[in-house]
Amino acid sequence: MILFRIASYLLLAVFTAGCAGLSSVSPGEPCAAAGFTVVDDFAGARRGSCRAVDDDRVLLKIREEDRQVVNPSPWFSFRIEPEAAGSAEVTLDYGSWTHRYRPKTSRDGVTWQPVPEERISLTRNGRRATLTLDLDREALWVSAQELITPDVYDAWNERIVRSTDTELSLLGQSLEGRPIPMLSSPGERDEVVLLIGRQHPPEVSGALAFFAFTSTVLDDSPLARQFRERFAVIAVPLLNPDGVVRGHFRHNVGRKDLNRDWGVFSQPETRLVGNLLDELDREGRKLVYFVDFHSTKRNLFYTLPDDATDPPRFFTDWFERARPRLAGVDYPFENDPSIGENMTVAKAYINQRYGIPAVTYEVGDETDRDAARRAAVVFAEEFMRLALER
Ligand SMILES: [Zn+2]
Repeated sequence: MILFRIASYLLLAVFTAGCAGLSSVSPGEPCAAAGFTVVDDFAGARRGSCRAVDDDRVLLKIREEDRQVVNPSPWFSFRIEPEAAGSAEVTLDYGSWTHRYRPKTSRDGVTWQPVPEERISLTRNGRRATLTLDLDREALWVSAQELITPDVYDAWNERIVRSTDTELSLLGQSLEGRPIPMLSSPGERDEVVLLIGRQHPPEVSGALAFFAFTSTVLDDSPLARQFRERFAVIAVPLLNPDGVVRGHFRHNVGRKDLNRDWGVFSQPETRLVGNLLDELDREGRKLVYFVDFHSTKRNLFYTLPDDATDPPRFFTDWFERARPRLAGVDYPFENDPSIGENMTVAKAYINQRYGIPAVTYEVGDETDRDAARRAAVVFAEEFMRLALER
């Protein structure tokens, strides 16, 4: 046994001398340490350039997609493929960014667990995080957030269409030609509610709220059916598929923050929504409510002052009704009402164009996922009740 260990140690040493040298591999190339390889060959990946610094240690340079990125949302996602059971020490070097997302691991890319705090060590300035991970022989995904990629959306869209009367169509295509699907409730209603998701690729907790909220509005409950008797619901679950597939911090592939492009509509993704609004106007239909799902550091709604919307006081009433129903759910939230200074933000643009209640629905990055879902159901139900009374 001891001889075997010495022999394997020598083998590792020889192997390591060959590849662990100090050269780094570029994004897209497998990065081999002695005991494992780190790959980024899947939708949503961002591993950056990688260097094996020891038998069981790698250094990953996590960098933004383009120089125009200003938002501190350093996304990472990669897969470790072990040669044998052991451990891996992975350092995320964020350059000028600082650590934000608590790493999560998965055996299958579907179910995720947060890495325990004691397994994460940060440098004092937050620009490097080192994760100590146990490996068995199975692949291990490591990701800033769960991977909610176009395949996941396709499966969710299909499930909604199968289980409700919702219709699925194509809003159009992204800059790289990926489909941007759209869900619509049937029937020509004059009053239209528009729900938008995933302008910003890393904002996965907001995507989970989008799923729960939207399915509550589209499902078969008496309340939802009554709601859709009066209102048409249009939902665009994934407005920035290119950014999601490429693991971007913020932008589409046109180097633009889509939520700073409303009204300008310089990008194909935002232009598609602009065209949709124009078409509704031409048909004499009216957008009456708008909800845009995002994530930030805490649960927060960017809304509008009571007198800036028709109907007025919508948000104050909405939260007054939802809050008592959330007593048993760990979902503290804030309401931040303001017209906003930047009219190219979706919420501000929509309110300026239509004078209606428009909201940026922000879910905390690390908010408990079950709480986020349960809260979204409550918000959707109270939203429908309130809208039906106006
Ligand atoms: Zn956002």
